[in-house]
Amino acid sequence: MAAVTELSRSDELRAFGEVVATCTRCALAQGRTQVVFGSGHPDADLMFVGEAPGFHEDKQGVPFVGAAGKLLEQLLAGIGLARDDVYIANVLKCRPPGNRDPVPEEIEACEGHLWRQIELTRPRVVATLGNFATKLLSGKPTGITRVHGQEQETTLGGRRVLLYPLYHPAAALYTPRMLDVLQSDFRRLPELLGREIEPVAQAPAPVGAEPAVQLGLF
Ligand code: URA
Repeated sequence: MAAVTELSRSDELRAFGEVVATCTRCALAQGRTQVVFGSGHPDADLMFVGEAPGFHEDKQGVPFVGAAGKLLEQLLAGIGLARDDVYIANVLKCRPPGNRDPVPEEIEACEGHLWRQIELTRPRVVATLGNFATKLLSGKPTGITRVHGQEQETTLGGRRVLLYPLYHPAAALYTPRMLDVLQSDFRRLPELLGREIEPVAQAPAPVGAEPAVQLGLF
């Protein structure tokens, strides 16, 4: 029974990727080679969310295939994982010209794609890489320098997950001190993946209220 559900979710993710491949919600559609939807295990416990495709990702249609991607693969290997064991996506699915930062209108136009990916993939831990993913998924303006390595339980894609902000590998490539921090934050991932996540406590119904379930039934 479970296998049937998993199969249909991964089929849904693939079908959703085909829809997103034709997205024209923002102006980045005009300059892209192709949409970089996401890659990896469709049922992964661990999902990474980066910023946006760069030159190589835009050409190949796969996230994190350049130098930052090589570092991500090394970090994964250090905790016994390969990129096919995890799911990798970005805040933006199309390359901003010259690899400039995403602008708010692009993030707003694209974020629905990411929410749906999270909903379909159902990760237990979502590791955000850098400022853009961290601010979007935490819903807070606090930057990565202050929050990296600090996991927090939250609801994403309708499910409880552990949100775990990390430095972006592209930034760590050029700053040895950041690389040290990224490596040590990364080493905590196995522990976080094994952690039980508390379901959200249901608020007690107000006295005299109908049980919520009945609202949908009658
Ligand atoms: N940086 C990102 O944030 N995403 C990629 O896919 C590649 C580099």
